[in-house]
Amino acid sequence: MTQQLATRFPPGPRSIWRDEPDAHWNDWHWQQRERITRVDQLEKVIRLTDDERRAAVETDADFHMGITPYYASLMDPDDPHCPVRLQSVPTMGETIVAAADLDDPLAEERDMPVRGITHRYPDRVLFYVTHNCPVYCRHCTRKRKVADPSSAAARQQVEDGLDYIAAHPEVRDVVISGGDPLSLSDERLDHILERLRAIPHVEIFRLGTRNLVTLPQRITDDFVHMLRRHQPVYVNTHFNHPKECTAEAFEAARRLADAGCPLGNQMVLLKGVNDDPKVVTELNHKLLLMRIRPYYIYQCDLAKGISHFRTTVEAGRKIIRALRGHTSGLAVPHFVVDAPEGGGKIPVNPDYVVRHEGKKWVFRNFRGKEYTYFEP
Ligand SMILES: *Cc1c(COP(=O)(O)O)cnc(C)c1O
Ligand code: SF4
Repeated sequence: MTQQLATRFPPGPRSIWRDEPDAHWNDWHWQQRERITRVDQLEKVIRLTDDERRAAVETDADFHMGITPYYASLMDPDDPHCPVRLQSVPTMGETIVAAADLDDPLAEERDMPVRGITHRYPDRVLFYVTHNCPVYCRHCTRKRKVADPSSAAARQQVEDGLDYIAAHPEVRDVVISGGDPLSLSDERLDHILERLRAIPHVEIFRLGTRNLVTLPQRITDDFVHMLRRHQPVYVNTHFNHPKECTAEAFEAARRLADAGCPLGNQMVLLKGVNDDPKVVTELNHKLLLMRIRPYYIYQCDLAKGISHFRTTVEAGRKIIRALRGHTSGLAVPHFVVDAPEGGGKIPVNPDYVVRHEGKKWVFRNFRGKEYTYFEP
């Protein structure tokens, strides 16, 4: 990293782990082993509010707490509104069941021809290979599965998924998801990717992983060396706030990009975290410096117990309006609502068409000025 970039991507502060040897801190197995899962551990890192203390106990049965030391060290110990804290420390908001909440908000189970595959779009599938994640994001849409050991994607399920893909020649794109697929070992992922590559009609696969954000130490030289053998491999990650763009995350992205993986970001619009055009602009500029292209902004879905994170659809459109034209087109993702009942991703753009009569179109540009275009 250049000197100029280094000031923009500070290393994680390491908090109470300041004296931990680098060999531990940089080892993803150590980070996994030392995860914070209990209140007494969390209390050593941040000053808990009464709400957080209660929630850590009361939400445990539904959705465990799990935070890597690395991600925990990014939290502001004194500010309960810290965006990293809001995403990883339970709050009592999770115990509220709103009228609109759904058990399976995206109907992923309904479109499951075999366990472990959601096939909704004509030419691509979602393939769940594990249910583990280094950090359990409090806004997770797959809460009902993630962190539930009884739903662990067993080997047989992965085999069934591979068989399904092999038997469906229309599938040219496989989104490898979970949980977080990078919870699996390099050997296991290597095996799955090799099996997918051996299927003639599979053109690309994408790894959907939040490890760049929550456990960047996972992106080792060995890991990216393995990926090189299976290119083209797309990697889509999930940064939600500029605070997550550290030196460690930068290095993880560098390794993946240098190994030839095109990188994309899927942000979730979260109240109090990133429902602000300024925050998203800063995030997207940092992502581009990391060679990560902002791909989607998702409207927060209707998963149970995340209503406190939801904001208006208009908040998302406002963000796109603030980006389009005002900054690089590369920094402008698609804002989508993943529709309930399996409707799929529906783009929701600000309106740039003022009116349209016959061959005459009236458009509005990013500054709000109107322009007329005549079709031939
Ligand atoms: C999001 C998603 C995909 C991938 O969609 P793209 O728009 O191609 O990124 C595929 N299958 C399911 C079920 C999805 O939810
Ligand atoms: S990494 Fe993804 S799947 Fe895992 S808890 Fe976070 S949002 Fe859910």
